[in-house]
Amino acid sequence: MPRGSACHRLRLALIGMLFLASLLAGGGAVRAAIAAEAPAVMTEGIGAGVDLAPYTRILPDPGGGMDLEAARRATGWKATPNRVLRFGYAPDMAWWARVTLTNPSARTARVVLDLGTSQQDYVDWYVTDPEGRVLLANQSGDRRPFDSRLMPYRDLALPYHLPPDATVTVYLRFDTHDGLFAMMPFRLYDYTGFFTASGRESLLLSMFHGGLAALASFNLLVFLVTRQGPVGLYVLHLLAVLAGSASYRGYGFQYIWPDLPVFGNAMTAGSIILAFVTGSLFVVRYVRLHRHVSMITRRAVSLLMIAALSGLVPLAFGQYVLAVAFSLIGLLLVVVVYLLNVHLLFKGVREARFTVPAFFALIVAVALHYLELSELLPASGFRIWPLIAGSSIEVMLLAFGLADSMNQQRERRFAAERREEAARLHMAEIEREASHKARHDELTGLLNRRAAEDWLETAVERGQPVAVLHLGLSDFGAVNEAIGHAGGDAVLRQLGRRLETALAPGEIAARLLADEFLVLMPGTDQARAMIAADRIQRLFAVPQQVGGTDMSIACRVGIVIHPDDARTAEDLLRRAAIAMQDAARLPRRIQLYQAGRDDDHRRRIALIRDLRHAAEHGEFRLLYQPKIHVATGRLVAAEALIRWQHPTYGMISPAEFIPLAEQSGATSGMTRWVIREAVHRMRSWRLAGLDIGLSVNISALDLDDPDLVGFVGRSLEAEGIAGGRLTLEVTESAIMTDPDRSRAVLEGLRLSGVTISVDDFGTGYSSLAHLKRLPVQELKIDQSFIRDLSAASEDAVIVRSTIGMSHNLGLSVVAEGVESEEILTLLGSWGCDVAQGYAIARPMDAADFERWAGHRMAAAREQAAAADLTRVRTVPGDQASQPG
Ligand code: C2E
Ligand code: CA
Ligand code: CA
Repeated sequence: MPRGSACHRLRLALIGMLFLASLLAGGGAVRAAIAAEAPAVMTEGIGAGVDLAPYTRILPDPGGGMDLEAARRATGWKATPNRVLRFGYAPDMAWWARVTLTNPSARTARVVLDLGTSQQDYVDWYVTDPEGRVLLANQSGDRRPFDSRLMPYRDLALPYHLPPDATVTVYLRFDTHDGLFAMMPFRLYDYTGFFTASGRESLLLSMFHGGLAALASFNLLVFLVTRQGPVGLYVLHLLAVLAGSASYRGYGFQYIWPDLPVFGNAMTAGSIILAFVTGSLFVVRYVRLHRHVSMITRRAVSLLMIAALSGLVPLAFGQYVLAVAFSLIGLLLVVVVYLLNVHLLFKGVREARFTVPAFFALIVAVALHYLELSELLPASGFRIWPLIAGSSIEVMLLAFGLADSMNQQRERRFAAERREEAARLHMAEIEREASHKARHDELTGLLNRRAAEDWLETAVERGQPVAVLHLGLSDFGAVNEAIGHAGGDAVLRQLGRRLETALAPGEIAARLLADEFLVLMPGTDQARAMIAADRIQRLFAVPQQVGGTDMSIACRVGIVIHPDDARTAEDLLRRAAIAMQDAARLPRRIQLYQAGRDDDHRRRIALIRDLRHAAEHGEFRLLYQPKIHVATGRLVAAEALIRWQHPTYGMISPAEFIPLAEQSGATSGMTRWVIREAVHRMRSWRLAGLDIGLSVNISALDLDDPDLVGFVGRSLEAEGIAGGRLTLEVTESAIMTDPDRSRAVLEGLRLSGVTISVDDFGTGYSSLAHLKRLPVQELKIDQSFIRDLSAASEDAVIVRSTIGMSHNLGLSVVAEGVESEEILTLLGSWGCDVAQGYAIARPMDAADFERWAGHRMAAAREQAAAADLTRVRTVPGDQASQPG
């Protein structure tokens, strides 16, 4: 009589190697040859249990209509070929099994016949005595309520008390609606053995289920925290495996739904399907299959999943076989995902290192189970253990995989954080550098203008008294030319260092431009600022050796004091710059800001800006100052003098804006306006009977205008004025800056018949000998010689000789600035041709001039008439004609 307990223990111990063992277990088939009549099983000394398969005879009942009596008398009983009871797939038929027990001892044998499964639709138990009398009849099975069982146990089992010396035969009738039979490792135990074995099995299953539950709840927490899809799927997978296993082993029926036998089957099949689908889905998401394989594969996987899930539908209608068939699709799905993972493993995808062995274990376990169930493999008697081992390995490996990928993620995140931190530090460094750069002058390392402005603004906001020293190097361009830019830079660096040594704590030095520096001295008054400026000048002047040359740098300093000179940083800086410009004109080259200079500056800038549009805006006027013939007092001509009626500054004298026009190159438009206006005026006066010539002033820059000659010609022609009527006054200095160019232009003008007059003669350095070579016809002795003229003065000599020499050269002489009758008389006595000045008339607008000219001519006529009378009555000869 074989005793299997040692072997069984070994099997339990080697649970991890069960797949292999089960394949080799084909040896069980050898027992197929056991004779039809089996010996009775001794109920004595069975210990931990004995396999009943060798003692069991089975009888198929194709119609399922046999009753106990018919079965007892039937002849088709035969031995079962396996170590377990297994009837294969046989819908709509019943099977009978019988085993004979005998108790040789003097004590009642309390035994349990255990079918080792909870999955059997209908199982009827009969115990008969040798005469065929029924001692016990019971109906159980997972389609009957749980309390119909004689023993409240998850497996289908029969407890029996066998009296001393008694022999009984146990008949079992198996019936199933769907035809799929479980494997039943039919065993006999005594009570102790049964409880020991079932306790041990329960312990192992509990460990498995507890492990699944623990893993599921832990991962549920992880999922709730991380919200990572794969973790959630893994939890679902664990729960499905747990539900499937627990219900397959009858726990659900025993403890949860004892009155709902149908539910257990649905639960088992449904959980298996869900376990396959959630497991596959998890792996697909976990390895990020979509990243590695094409769309088609993804679609195929999705289709398989849907197909597998659709197995839940027949389940709802109690179609378990169909459902189980669908669970095979689930297995196929697992296989497909598995193969894809193998592919990924070869591609070096890290996650596949976990999924491949995990699925391998699961597939092997499930496949073995199916193969065993479907009799394609010999029954091993290992029952559910390979399944449990396989899914344990699977879920553990997947758990490791998840842990690994979380660890990977964590490490990636740490690495990313480290990179980010490094980048942040780097950025901060760059910013620090940039802000140093942004606030410092690269060459000298001093602060730059921005930083100095900020500093000053802050000081001003705090109401702190500050002296602002604006330093400008004199002629630094020449230094650069002499020793090159690199040399110039060296000089500037040296000056920057010297400047820093000159500073007291709290004082600031900045470089503004190439050759301009700023020193900010808090709490310093004018006197101390002057002293500091002087010290800096002397420091800069100390010769420095650059490229073998001794360089001594002179600088001018403008000083403003906050709050005395200005109350904003902007004003302070501007006024300091103005003072610095003004300093250039002073011998010591230090200038304290002079009140109002700023306004002058502003006004200059506004005037320069507006000058360009003054002509087109009609803001220019011409005034006319008479030029009279000294000898006769006759009005011979007038000088046109421009005025600018500025919209905000009012009437502006040419002495102010002409230099600005010359600086900004805006003379050309103005000169053309004056010429056009003067020529036009001559024409209208001529029509009114006032036929005089007009002088117009042109500036040095106009001599550069290539079209000046053409413009003058066209203007005269347009108004029908003879060229000789127009005189152009050019200053002596303008002519003399470039005599050759002047000659060319003047000769061009002469061709139009225009008279050329040399204005302000005597202020330049030209001599009459120079002028002789130029096409000039008139010479205007500058006012400075005329204004204070007296017979005995030094100027008298100059004026007299100039008149004399001019006449020798054929030039007509004009004296301007004639402010008194005496001077006019004096000039007349010296033979001066024409006079102009306040003594005759001030410059007047056109209307006043016309009135003045009218009076003048009327007076002249009266005088002439009176003179005639006098000449008749007395002696002719006195030709003095004095204007009024
Ligand atoms: P300028 O050509 O020497 O003009 C003579 C200036 O002396 C005029 O000043 C005139 O008003 C002034 N003046 C005339 N008689 C006397 C006098 O007896 N005593 C004193 N103290 N001054 C007298 P204004 O009109 O202010 O012109 C100043 C300068 O502006 C002119 O000096 C001339 O160089 C320039 N200027 C005037 N109009 C024009 C113009 O249309 N174009 C150009 N380019 N320059 C002009
Ligand atoms: Ca003039
Ligand atoms: Ca003049």
